[in-house]
Parts: sequence; C-alpha cells; structure tokens
Amino acid sequence: MIDGRTQLVGLLGWPVEHSLSPAMHNAAFDALGMNWRYVALPVAPGGAAAAARGLASLGFRGANVTVPHKSDVMSGLDRWGDEAGALGAVNVVRVEREDGREPKLVGYNTDHRGFVDALVRFGFDPRGETAAVVGAGGAARAAVYGLLRAGARRVTVLGRTPERIDRLVRDLDDGEGRLSGERLTDETLVGATARSALLVQATPVGMSPDVDRSIWPDGAPFPSGTLAYDLVYVPRRTKLLRQAGVAGAPGLDGLGMLVRQGARAFELWTGREAPVDVMTRACEAALGRVCE
Ligand code: NAP
Repeated sequence: MIDGRTQLVGLLGWPVEHSLSPAMHNAAFDALGMNWRYVALPVAPGGAAAAARGLASLGFRGANVTVPHKSDVMSGLDRWGDEAGALGAVNVVRVEREDGREPKLVGYNTDHRGFVDALVRFGFDPRGETAAVVGAGGAARAAVYGLLRAGARRVTVLGRTPERIDRLVRDLDDGEGRLSGERLTDETLVGATARSALLVQATPVGMSPDVDRSIWPDGAPFPSGTLAYDLVYVPRRTKLLRQAGVAGAPGLDGLGMLVRQGARAFELWTGREAPVDVMTRACEAALGRVCE
C-alpha cells in the first residue's frame, strides 16, 4: 500500500514504458517488507537535469537514469563518483539529506559493476584474460571500463564509426597499453574473437524485433573456446548466442547485467543487501510478458 510514509525512487528515461526496472525493484521492496515504491518517470530529451533537481524537491530517495539522459543528467547533480566521471555517464542518482541542509544529488555508475558481477557469477574471471568488445556506445564503454578495472590483460574494441572508437579508447585507456580499437568488419571480428577468451556484444543488433540478425557472419564457425556475452536481453537467446551454442561455445545473455546493476543501485538507495534472486525472477516474469 502507498501511504504518507512511502519512500520513492524512479526511472528517468525516454521512453520508459517497457522498462523491467519497476517490476524488479518493487518485487525487491515487497520481498523485504519495505514501504518503498519504484516508478517510471518519462522525461523528454533535454529535461534530465531539471528532473533530477525535481527529485530532491519531491522527496524522492533517488533514481535510475537511462537512455537518452545518462550524460545530460550530470549537469543537474551536485557531484558524482570517480567511476561516473571516467565513463561520462550516470545511471544512478542518490538524494542525500542531512538535517537542516539542502539535499544533495550524487551520481553513480553501476553499469560496469553489473557487467562484471554477472560475468564473475557465470564463472568467468576477467583477470589476465583477453577480450573483444563490439560497439562504442554506453554499454560498450561500461564493459571496457569494467574489464580493465577487473584486470583484463588486453581489450580490443570493434566499431563501425572510427571517431567513436577513437574517443572511447582515448577516454578509457589507462596508459598501460591494454586497450586498442579496430574498425568492425567480418574479418576483424572473427580474428579478434579467435584471439580472445571473451566476446562482448554491446550493440542493439539481434534485439527484438530484429531477432534474426547477428554481428557474427553466417557460415563462419564461432570459436568453441570463446565465451559469447551478449548484452541484449530481449530476447535472451539471441542469434549470436545460438551461433555460439551450435559451435559448442558458452554463452551469457544480458539479463544478469541488468539485475546486477539494479542490485547495486538498490543498495545505494536503501543501504540494504539486494535480494538478487527475487529481482531475477521478477525480470524473467516481466520479460515473459514483454515477449508474448
Ligand atoms: P548506444 O549508446 O546507442 O550505442 C550503440 C552502439 O551500437 C553504437 O556504438 C553503434 O554504432 C552500435 N551499432 C548499432 N547498430 C549497429 C550495427 N548494425 N552494426 C554495428 N554496430 C552497431 O546504445 P547502448 O546504450 O550502448 O546499448 C547497446 C545495447 O546494449 C542495447 O541495445 C541493449 O540491448 C544493451 N544494453 C544492455 C544492458 C544490460 O544491462 N544488459 C545495459 C545497457 C545496454 P555507432 O557508434 O557507429 O553508432
């Protein structure tokens, strides 16, 4: 029941109506008996900074931030963590209140942690490993940042727009020579994947309704020793994961990343351990409705 003591968190995005986050977080609040609610808040492009300030005025405890606001929202915040600064993107805002003081808006980035947490949970420790990442957008940046922080030996980013690849490498390179960029072609993809223990798919290719598309070329055998990690989760079993499966290679979908970034956000807002299993089941049920 929502009453005068209900604590609110929300999602700033555009559009937001298909998000799994309300189902995921509200299931977590219910499971822990907390009088908290998570609501989707459609915010038109350009409105994120003002919306964030509004969260503080309205008594919200915080919010997630999603496409297209992850960078723009930062101009409305009082400060952000080093990780959000390095990535140039915030996906979690926490409203910090101290007695008698103006509330402060603090930004975090939990996407890269969700990416790595799900990978480690699957049984793949990036330390000392070689990885290829396809894409140069927000998900690819989170993946590259997470892999480098987790101790990957070498990361190759492949993308179709050279300027975006160059910018990503410039922004995230830590000077240790572990990160490089390549133009995405069938040949560079097959070559980089064969040299890597992990292939991360961080583009929308293969996402519903384009379920018959894949970044992996038809007819090229997928290397059986490489883990295919597709960040898409609608559908969970993308064409890329099917191609990897046919070759006997392991595959991991993007739902674990979604849940784990959400778990980190939950802990930032509430200070309580997130019920990850409950959140996973809620996403699976909501996905079942989305995919019907
Ligand atoms: P984004 O910022 O819009 O970036 C998309 C990237 O994909 C861009 O680099 C774009 O290339 C590339 N791309 C698009 N179509 C392509 C194609 N046909 N061939 C090659 N590259 C292509 O999006 P994002 O936020 O990074 O999200 C990417 C995907 O990751 C989403 O669709 C979503 O499914 C998934 N995702 C999952 C999670 C999770 O929690 N599991 C979180 C975030 C995102 P250009 O640089 O050339 O434009």
